[in-house]
Amino acid sequence: MSAQPSTERLAASDAGIARAAEIVRGGGLVAMPTETVYGLGANALDPIAVAKIFAAKERPTFDPLIVHVADRAALNDLLTTEALADPRIAALADALWPGPLTIVAAASASIPSLVRSGLPTVGVRIPDHPVALALIRAAGVPIAAPSANRFGRLSPTRAEHVLADLDGRIDAVIDAGATRVGVESTVVALDPGGPATLLRPGGVSLEQLQSLLAPLGGIQVAAAVQAGSTPLPAPGMTAAHYAPRAPIRLSNHSTESAAPTDDPFAGLDHCALLGIDRADLDRLEAEAKRANVPVVAALPLSEVRDPVAAAAALFDLLHRLDAALASVTNGGIVATLYPASGLGLAIADRLRRAAAASTNGAAQ
Ligand code: AMP
Ligand code: MG
Repeated sequence: MSAQPSTERLAASDAGIARAAEIVRGGGLVAMPTETVYGLGANALDPIAVAKIFAAKERPTFDPLIVHVADRAALNDLLTTEALADPRIAALADALWPGPLTIVAAASASIPSLVRSGLPTVGVRIPDHPVALALIRAAGVPIAAPSANRFGRLSPTRAEHVLADLDGRIDAVIDAGATRVGVESTVVALDPGGPATLLRPGGVSLEQLQSLLAPLGGIQVAAAVQAGSTPLPAPGMTAAHYAPRAPIRLSNHSTESAAPTDDPFAGLDHCALLGIDRADLDRLEAEAKRANVPVVAALPLSEVRDPVAAAAALFDLLHRLDAALASVTNGGIVATLYPASGLGLAIADRLRRAAAASTNGAAQ
């Protein structure tokens, strides 16, 4: 795409939202706050506008986008009649929308193929953020929006994170401060012939979905989501993702039994530490000292173990630890793997994929 001369910073005000809506209607790109992370939005029904998202993010086109709508009525234009008749949509939407849940179901012909990465399905959700909802309504179109970061990088939970990655590459960003949930939406596919499938853990817990879907055929967990595995059963589920610039190593002292890194400090000249809580951070600091690796920064995901606070803080803290390592040589982030229950499943998933990106050198 042609580089934008500069990216407009818009306030989360009526005037800012009106300007953003004008840009979206004109085929441009606007980074918008949602309750999960900042999204990079474009008119989902305009293939040229959608193509600009992939260009700005340098996102491979095999990774489909989530379409954001403001109300359930908007689904009528996005899904097939058969998909709309699935009782699981009403059950999930009644309980969890607006909210951090993306439903993947058969797409109507109006959805450009690029949004779906050529799949017959589309991912849709109603975000729980007043600014995102106001923008979708003002634009008058569904908004396709992946996270507003370069492909493979840390997701943005603040407007500053968006600009650090995309300034000059997008038309505007609406600044509404830090996002509330902090990890992306949970993605669940509704296959017509069988149980629902959890494609990506996120802001809605698997436990919540299990109880809602129990009377409706249940839910299975995609192989890539299961602890420690890395195959790619669906587009977009790249094993290596959400990566800081510095390599990230996992210390496995949490209660979970995924394969431990042999020695997370091996080969590092400096480290930045991310603990599950204050006590865990103290343990990591003692380990760093034993390994004789200087610590340039140390942060707990929350003071006492709190998955909600930890999810909200995760990407911001990773951005900060990454920045702290920018001025040293051969530095790495050492993080304790989060216990994988409730929201912790999404946190552990993001940490694991960030670590996989470091191992493979696959982050882009
Ligand atoms: P992002 O918006 O960057 O957080 O990523 C959107 C993610 O949603 C993709 O990477 C997929 O994991 C998932 N997704 C969106 N649409 C579909 C679809 N039609 N089929 C499967 N997964 C999807
Ligand atoms: Mg993303």
